[in-house]
Amino acid sequence: MARASEPAYLPLLRSGELKRRVAEAYARLEACDICARECGVNRRLSTEAAGCRTGERAMVSSYGPHFGEEDPLVGRGGSGTIFFSWCNLRCQYCQNYEISQVGTGQQVEPEDLAKMMLSLQSQGCHNINFVSPSHVVPQILAGLLIAAQAGLRLPLVYNTGGYDSLKTLALLDGVVDIYMPDAKYADPGVAQRYSKIRNYPAVNQAALKEMHRQVGDLTMDDRGVAQRGLLVRHLVLPSGLAGTAEVVRFLRDQISPNTYINVMAQYRPCYRAHRLPPLDRSITNQEYAEAVHLAQEAGLRLDERRSRLLWVLR
Ligand code: SF4
Repeated sequence: MARASEPAYLPLLRSGELKRRVAEAYARLEACDICARECGVNRRLSTEAAGCRTGERAMVSSYGPHFGEEDPLVGRGGSGTIFFSWCNLRCQYCQNYEISQVGTGQQVEPEDLAKMMLSLQSQGCHNINFVSPSHVVPQILAGLLIAAQAGLRLPLVYNTGGYDSLKTLALLDGVVDIYMPDAKYADPGVAQRYSKIRNYPAVNQAALKEMHRQVGDLTMDDRGVAQRGLLVRHLVLPSGLAGTAEVVRFLRDQISPNTYINVMAQYRPCYRAHRLPPLDRSITNQEYAEAVHLAQEAGLRLDERRSRLLWVLR
C-alpha cells in the first residue's frame, strides 16, 4: 500500500514489482501489443510496420513545466509535461500533428527520461505528465524505475488519446495516479473516417472503465491540486462529430456521475482537416455551449476553466 501523500508507484518500487513490470513490458516489444492496435511487430528490429513508428527507444519532442493544462494539474508550480513523438492514432485534424504525425523529436534512453522527470520535480512541478504515452509504456516504466530509485516522488499523469490496451493498463495498475484519457468519439464510422480506427469507441470505453476501476473519481488536495483519479478530455468537433451526448451519457451511466470532464473548445482545422469538411472550420460558440450544456445536464464535474470560458462566450 502507498503511504499517505506518497505516489502510487513507491510500494511497487520497494517490493521489486516495478522492476518485474519493466521486464514484462519490454518483452512485449518483440511482438508488439503495447497498445490496442496490436501490430505484432518486433520493435527491437524495425519500426516499419509499427503503427506508432516507434522502435525500442522512445522519442521525446519536448519537456518542461506547462501552465496550459487543466487547473487541478497546474496548481502554482505547473504540470511537468514530457511530450512523446509519434502516436498510435491517425487523427486527420491532430492539433499537435508535427509531434504526433511528423515525429519531430529526439530518441531517448530510459536514463534520459529519468533525468527529465527529476528535473521537472526540482523545478517545482506538481506531477509528471506523460503526453501521448500509449505506445511507449515500457520505456516510461524503465525511466520511472531509475527516477524513483533516485528520489522521484511526484504523482504520474497518463495523458492519453484513449486507445489503450487493457493488458498494458494492467502494467500501470498501482503506478499511475491520475489517468487523463480523451473520449474522442461515440461512433465507429466517425472514428474510422477521422482517426483511422474503427473500434476506437469500444476500446476507449473499456479503457476508461479500467482506468476508473484503478484510481476512482478525481480527488484533489486542499490547494485544488489533483492527487489521484480520472480526468476525461472531450474535444468538441464541428457538427457534433464527437458524439458529445453519447459520450457524457456513457460517463454518467457506466463510469461515475462524479466524473471530472474537460469539454474542450480549442478545435482548429489542422493537418488534413481542410480536406475533410465539416472539419475545415472551427466550432461555433453555440456548438461549444451545447456540448457544455450536455455535460452539465448529465451532472458531471466540469473543468472550471472551461466553465469560465463559456461564461465569456455568452
Ligand atoms: S505500440 Fe501500438 S501502434 Fe505501436 S507497434 Fe505496438 S501495437 Fe503497434
